[in-house]
Amino acid sequence: MKRRHFLANTAIGATTTAALGACSPTKTGSVAQTNSQPIVRWRMATSWPKSLETIFGGAETICKRVGEMTNGRFSITPFAAGELVPGLQVLDAVQAGTVQCGHTAGYYYIGKNPALAFGTSLPFGLNAQQQNAWLYHGGGLEAMQKIYADFGVINFPAGNTGTQMGGWFKREIKSVADLNGLKMRIPGLGGEVMSRLGVNVQVLPGGEIYLALDRGAIDAAEWATPYDDEKLGLHKAAQFYYYPGWWEPGPTLEAQVNLAEWQKLPKEYQEIFKTAAMEANLNMLSLYDALNRQALERLLAGGTKLIAYSPEIMQAAQKASLELYEQNAAKDPVFKQVYEQWKSFREEIYKWNQINELSFDNFAVANDT
Ligand code: CA
Repeated sequence: MKRRHFLANTAIGATTTAALGACSPTKTGSVAQTNSQPIVRWRMATSWPKSLETIFGGAETICKRVGEMTNGRFSITPFAAGELVPGLQVLDAVQAGTVQCGHTAGYYYIGKNPALAFGTSLPFGLNAQQQNAWLYHGGGLEAMQKIYADFGVINFPAGNTGTQMGGWFKREIKSVADLNGLKMRIPGLGGEVMSRLGVNVQVLPGGEIYLALDRGAIDAAEWATPYDDEKLGLHKAAQFYYYPGWWEPGPTLEAQVNLAEWQKLPKEYQEIFKTAAMEANLNMLSLYDALNRQALERLLAGGTKLIAYSPEIMQAAQKASLELYEQNAAKDPVFKQVYEQWKSFREEIYKWNQINELSFDNFAVANDT
């Protein structure tokens, strides 16, 4: 017991000796070598309610896997939106060091820097597979980490929903004119595009959308995909469910870490955290893809009306999106730098995916009965 107390009292951020019980420390051999790594206790603020086990699950995957891979010596506890900080203030808390890390979406913070949207998703941008290609092997993650460094933060992709749905409306939206004056919850640059199409844009954390829609404080809302939207109860507050979510073709959720805390970690813990984040990135996407179809069937059986956006709205939204990017690039050198690199990558991968993915989908997926 003396050795346990010695380790606990000298380790970084140690608040408990509980994790040491599993280590069976000895004076010799490989186990003692393992125990030379410090005990680290972190808190992770998130933007999600725990009821959304898919997206909150991204945070849980990181925390669980980091703990397992360090035999409990590096433990991170995830917290739901509002438990430590409000859901849309995770970056602020990580930047301030209120928490060591967070799990959130970069596009909630475009008011601080519009280029943060690239780390999540842009209207008419990249799907999940393309987004991962850009982030991991197309210079995207380096570009985003450069921006986050100005906040004293480092980010890692840590989840993706796949292409989202186009939101819930209390009445049918057939034309751009029907959008005029509509109050809609929609964050990110998608919100800015909707604003240009006449929408009165609101940004609310996930856990607050249902009440706002049900009480009529907003006329429309988007969250994510059928599985999550059903969990939030959005189908009980609005009947018309549109697709596709042209503003979020493949949104990346991300782990954000206070840079000073990150630099205090042993290299081994940094690598373990990065590995756990990458596992969360894949696992969340796989989970959504496995769950969404059945959820959509349940929604349709319950009376939800599924409607595709009209070509007029799609074309107007695409035109407004490209105009927005060009205007942002003209006035913001950081946005311009990321945008030009991202745009070039998008053109190339679109060309490739027209040959492989799209030609396959157009034959096999589109014609499946
Ligand atoms: Ca969304």
